[in-house]
Amino acid sequence: SWQVDLDAVSVTYPNGTRALSDVSLRIEPGEMVSIIGLSGSGKSTLIRTINGLVEATEGKVTVGPHQINTLSGRTLRDARGQIGMIFQGFNLAERTDVFHNVLVGRFAHLPWWRTLLDLPTQHDRDIVLRSLDSVGILDKMWARGGALSGGQKQRVAIARALSQEPSLMLADEPVASLDPPTAHSVMGDLLRINKEQGLTVLVNLHLMDLAKQYTTRLIGLRNGQLVYDGPIHDATDAH
Ligand code: ADP
Ligand code: ADP
Repeated sequence: SWQVDLDAVSVTYPNGTRALSDVSLRIEPGEMVSIIGLSGSGKSTLIRTINGLVEATEGKVTVGPHQINTLSGRTLRDARGQIGMIFQGFNLAERTDVFHNVLVGRFAHLPWWRTLLDLPTQHDRDIVLRSLDSVGILDKMWARGGALSGGQKQRVAIARALSQEPSLMLADEPVASLDPPTAHSVMGDLLRINKEQGLTVLVNLHLMDLAKQYTTRLIGLRNGQLVYDGPIHDATDAH
């Protein structure tokens, strides 16, 4: 599992919005950490900077063995191939069955045109089945994405990320569109994966309750600045 290091990272978007200001932090391998902040505080930008979707305008972003803000092209794609991403909106293909939605994760390290040519191996199939099993939706394998509930869709998205055999898992508001019981069970899946596989997990949340229940360390952002980094129980001022 990968460590994540941000050293004095700032992000200014082309339109002039300064979304992160001088953020420094370190996530140890195998940690599960919540990032908390109001809408617009920079949580998504932080996640997207760590997986190289957004470029740091200042500072250094080190993810596992990679200084991600200096990579491009194939090396960036290879690094991203080892980073599982989960989003609020699931990003599944609605007309495609669950098996193939998850199989896409196996090809995450390939250029898009290779994904049209490469056939899955038996090993790829085995990993897909194992990933589905680990989030308890093996029985939905042949259901179409569009036929699933929100909670099932998010589990498919987690399985897709797991099928990458990731070294780091990033989740951007993964439970924001789920009802509370479903949100709890999806958070429970993430925590279990963190514990069982020792996988580093960073999760953006807007609810302090969930952060408290599922993680022991919290990072608080406000207006792009890091305003808290520590154990949950001291964090009452962070929001
Ligand atoms: P959060 O995830 O906490 O809601 P974001 O990282 O999405 O925060 O946004 C932080 C700030 O950056 C906000 O002011 C938002 O409007 C702005 N922002 C986000 N994405 C972009 C973008 N692509 N271009 C310009 N501004 C952006
Ligand atoms: P979030 O849930 O993180 O607050 P938003 O709804 O603010 O997300 O943003 C959704 C998308 O719009 C993101 O891809 C973000 O990059 C983009 N975005 C957000 N704010 C701006 C902005 N001010 N200018 C351009 N794009 C933006």
